[in-house]
Amino acid sequence: MNFHVLTLFPEMIEDGFNTSITGRALQNGTITLDAVNIRDYSTNKHMRVDDYPYGGGAGMVMQAEPVHLAYQALQQKLGKERLRVIYLTPQGNVFSQPMAEELAKEEDLVFLCGHYEGIDERVLEMIVTDYVSIGDYVLTGGELPALVMMDAISRLVPQVLNNEVSAEFESFHDNLLEYPQYTRPEEYMGKRVPDILLSGHHAKIEQWRREQSLKRTLERRPELLDGNEALTKKDKEYLQKLRG
Ligand code: SAM
Repeated sequence: MNFHVLTLFPEMIEDGFNTSITGRALQNGTITLDAVNIRDYSTNKHMRVDDYPYGGGAGMVMQAEPVHLAYQALQQKLGKERLRVIYLTPQGNVFSQPMAEELAKEEDLVFLCGHYEGIDERVLEMIVTDYVSIGDYVLTGGELPALVMMDAISRLVPQVLNNEVSAEFESFHDNLLEYPQYTRPEEYMGKRVPDILLSGHHAKIEQWRREQSLKRTLERRPELLDGNEALTKKDKEYLQKLRG
């Protein structure tokens, strides 16, 4: 998996990604990261990349040309005419686990980070394939959203997580939230780990976890249960019991 990020703040991307699990994936070459500074493609003698919006209004808009030139240089470097280009924008489809799973199949992903009031619409029309938001709020730039997406996608790339199964049984697997987790000590401030988890009885532990998953989803994100095709007959009976 090769991530390419077009940004005005490459150090923010590099510093944010080069830690912990994603940092290790970079070091062992499972993932590569190329943070491209859009400002390097400014043809202005003051290296400007933004200007006032036509029609008036507050703020500045990133100009089309430096973004376009940065993209063309990337096309040339990769020897690819067509690239998957994700523009981070509050106006996009909201990022989700299924979207991360679909994007994790690509070999190269390009993230385009806006700043100020955004980017001139014309270059977006020319190069963007996907418009993605990380939620219904407005941030100052696309760098944090790009990092959020790259983190979620990286975890799905084989060999990034040490424990291959750990990405499989997490929240949103089967579109359910994960069951509660416990570690040592067995008792903390008078609160004991549920006995079943100490029993060594794997089938019963699995059943308990599934039930906790269903209970938690019903309590916190009930809409995930509507039309959920992963629910078994037994799951439905348990939910019926919980609902009373
Ligand atoms: N004027 C734009 C609008 O109303 O749609 C918002 C611009 S925002 C201040 C600057 C940049 O931050 C955007 O171009 C985008 O790249 C990024 N951004 C802000 N909020 C975001 C979100 N929720 N998801 C993804 N990117 C976001």
